[in-house]
Amino acid sequence: MRLSTVPVLKLSVMPNLEVVLHPHPALRWKSREVTKIDAELRQMVEQMFELMYAHKGIGLAANQVALPYRLFVINPTGDRSERDQEQVFINPQITRRNGSEEDEEGCLSLPEIFGPVTRATRIIVDAFDLAGQQFEMELEDLPARVVQHEYDHVDGVLFTDRVPAGALPKMQPLIIDLELQFRNRQKEGTIPSDEQLKASLLALQKARTGG
Ligand code: ZN
Repeated sequence: MRLSTVPVLKLSVMPNLEVVLHPHPALRWKSREVTKIDAELRQMVEQMFELMYAHKGIGLAANQVALPYRLFVINPTGDRSERDQEQVFINPQITRRNGSEEDEEGCLSLPEIFGPVTRATRIIVDAFDLAGQQFEMELEDLPARVVQHEYDHVDGVLFTDRVPAGALPKMQPLIIDLELQFRNRQKEGTIPSDEQLKASLLALQKARTGG
């Protein structure tokens, strides 16, 4: 067989996604807008939903699976059989925030850590869906909170940044413990160094955001 007759297989560079934990540098990355929505992106989103359900989450941002893109998925019921509650937000913008309410939050990237966060009660968010269609959505209560939490992630902000100082002492030992575990795994070589992780974020960013 001549080489030229071999069909060209496009090898996917898509990493096998997993939820990363604090202090992975992806969680502090200010992500860029996605410039193309294609089959590979749809596959990433599908994997994100799978991971979200597997970890019993109700929302998951691309930063949490080490993808430096402004996108996140939610299902406020956390129930994979409630497909109609699933929503993908690509290049989201929160255009309006009303009211304010404090409630307990947790995060798949900070397991077993919970703290109070004040969020707007009602929001309006603009985003694109997987078909590339722009939509506007009005949300309140839990779905609004989930979207604000995930929206923070794509800016590299964690809920612990928004917890009032009075609630931090209780959470701090758990956060420090997570950091120690992460650094130990880097020393053992089971997690790449921060420099290597940042280089891979930069490569993924170049591939899909035009910068
Ligand atoms: Zn989170």
